[in-house]
Amino acid sequence: MLNQNYKENLINSINIFCKNINCLGCGGTYNYQTFTCEFCGSINEELKKSYLNIFSIIPYLNKDNVDKEITLYLYKLVNSSDIFNHALEQFDLTKETNSIIKELETKVEYNDLDTKLLECIFSNDIFLDIDNVLRDIILRNVILRKNSLSKELIEKTISHLVLSDTRNISKDSRFYIRNLGENVGGLAFHYYVYLDREVMDNFYDKGDISIFYVLPHEMMHTYRTYVESKGIVGSIYDTLALKERLLREYNQDIYYNDKNYVKNLHEIEANAFSYRAGTNYLKSLGFEISEEAVLNISGVINNDLTRLDNPLREIEGKLVNINELFANFIKDKKDLFYKYPQLHYEFKEEEGQVIYKSKMELVDEMTFQNKDESLEEIYLTLIKNANDRESIKDKNDILKS
Ligand SMILES: [Zn+2]
Ligand SMILES: [Zn+2]
Repeated sequence: MLNQNYKENLINSINIFCKNINCLGCGGTYNYQTFTCEFCGSINEELKKSYLNIFSIIPYLNKDNVDKEITLYLYKLVNSSDIFNHALEQFDLTKETNSIIKELETKVEYNDLDTKLLECIFSNDIFLDIDNVLRDIILRNVILRKNSLSKELIEKTISHLVLSDTRNISKDSRFYIRNLGENVGGLAFHYYVYLDREVMDNFYDKGDISIFYVLPHEMMHTYRTYVESKGIVGSIYDTLALKERLLREYNQDIYYNDKNYVKNLHEIEANAFSYRAGTNYLKSLGFEISEEAVLNISGVINNDLTRLDNPLREIEGKLVNINELFANFIKDKKDLFYKYPQLHYEFKEEEGQVIYKSKMELVDEMTFQNKDESLEEIYLTLIKNANDRESIKDKNDILKS
């Protein structure tokens, strides 16, 4: 056995080391000779102290005194930084970690040590990639009211569920549980997902499953942020959704109106995704949810999915078309136009103004693009819209003449 003081010192140092791997000031990496940031030059004493501590303890480690808890922390350490790989190569940490997790999967009751191991696993980003069977067993037991784990640990498990997914689209993804107020189950802001405290409590205290619909809804919003920031266009809805978001950002009237809110593409797609993802996840845990309940919880009942292409919104009692509203809005916003290349299918810059491409220009572009079917779909819609615009204009010209 490793002396308890050594063990605590080691675990503590590993936690501090891992927290300090990237420069807090600039995100840069440190030089392990000088412990200065290679980018901004600031020195990190905490990193230095923990690094030296860990290296002073490693020689005392051997296969007999490295227990399960130490194994998990060493696994965390070598997966956070390559710098200890050589010093720890005698331990097969991946294999040992996997077998610890496999063993936990078979347990019905957890003792104090198990709980410590679970805490380590579910509070560390390093374990996000590890297989999720254990996590799902734990969450299933909460629904079945067969759970003896603390609320704090269950919250970490939920956090693991969210982050193991959202980290795939951004390393900046975060998860928070907060009081979000009346009637708000969750919120998404960029790559941050917020869950309402009450939804979490209802899950932990009563096994309420609505949490599994709230979370995918918000995760869909973060995915939309990703699609928009990368300029990805898979269908005409992607551009329409971006237009709506930009209009909402600059014209809050559109957003703060209940009727518009349920027609908002972001909400429609988030509800539809929540409906599917929530139901599938619960099914994978062995739960059948009635169609009626799913419709209610996911919010899909409020939306007519066949109207995903509905561009009409209400502003001060008047119906407006967000396509037209956007064309007007973007005219003098060159910066925004160049920030989002996905707008370049439909618009162009001419004499300092952002304007629609003509039908002929769109036809030309479609002919020369690389036989991408989804792109062809998009062009066909844009051409139809351009045709409608231009024939209306032609008619007006004839009437004037
Ligand atoms: Zn720095
Ligand atoms: Zn939403």
